[in-house]
Amino acid sequence: METLPACPACGSIHVLANAQSIKDYSISKETFSLSRCRDCGLIYTNPRPDQAHIGPYYQSEVYVSHTGSDAPGFINSLYRWVRQYTLGVKKRQVEQRNSLEFRRLLDVGCGTGEFASYMSQTGWEVMAVEPDETTAERARALHGLMVNNEEWLNTTNERFEVITMWHVLEHVHDLRLRIHSIQQLLMPGGLFVVAVPNPMSTDAQHYKEHWAAWDVPRHLYHFPPKTLREFIESMGFESIATRPMYFDPMYVSMLSEQYRADSKTTAILGLLKGLWFLCSALVKKDACSSQVYFFRKKNHA
Ligand SMILES: [Zn+2]
Repeated sequence: METLPACPACGSIHVLANAQSIKDYSISKETFSLSRCRDCGLIYTNPRPDQAHIGPYYQSEVYVSHTGSDAPGFINSLYRWVRQYTLGVKKRQVEQRNSLEFRRLLDVGCGTGEFASYMSQTGWEVMAVEPDETTAERARALHGLMVNNEEWLNTTNERFEVITMWHVLEHVHDLRLRIHSIQQLLMPGGLFVVAVPNPMSTDAQHYKEHWAAWDVPRHLYHFPPKTLREFIESMGFESIATRPMYFDPMYVSMLSEQYRADSKTTAILGLLKGLWFLCSALVKKDACSSQVYFFRKKNHA
């Protein structure tokens, strides 16, 4: 375990330690503390497993975003159906906001490569990065993608019009270094798309310590929307839009109900509550379970 002496986003030492305790319900059943920065508002898992020791916390068949195809169960099936539908939504969101002529896209943290593959089939020149070599190999085998490791980000001369990180930034140990490397890899005016869970969402407020998207210790950071926008902007970007992810309230609420009741019979209750949370996110800004943030690289940066 490593203890961070200062806020990993802004570097402030004005931090409230042990602001909250959260249990890892899905894999280790261990309990972790959250710290909250008094200056920028970032909430982060602290202490946390360091990069060399976090691997075992991902070793589970229920970690569906890394298993990709045939994990059993109603929630996993629903998740896969929704992921297929949302590929089209993600593509439209990217294309609406890409103002540059060329179509070179880098998907960082591609998992088994569904989004990268979808984009490469629709006219985009796509490269991908995946830190887990087993998952990367699967993405290559399934989709024929060019998948690199994380070190490649710091050494390549390639440049991109669009870089995406779908539910990935909250997993990255070197937060500032990673945003800096992305800023370097984007063309001036290029688009950076980042999706993360929202600890200020209506469902997070409702489920409190049982909120499934805390997902400690895999989620190292829990970004309030304002904190994320200000942090990325401070690294040479301009925030251009924030959008809710429409299916996440249902998925997260179904899991959260399970964690709270320790039972699988509560999926329907979670689904109904998730629909209600979605409705509230449609009328209230920055209230959705997970959000997508769109940034443009500043021309002079
Ligand atoms: Zn801070």
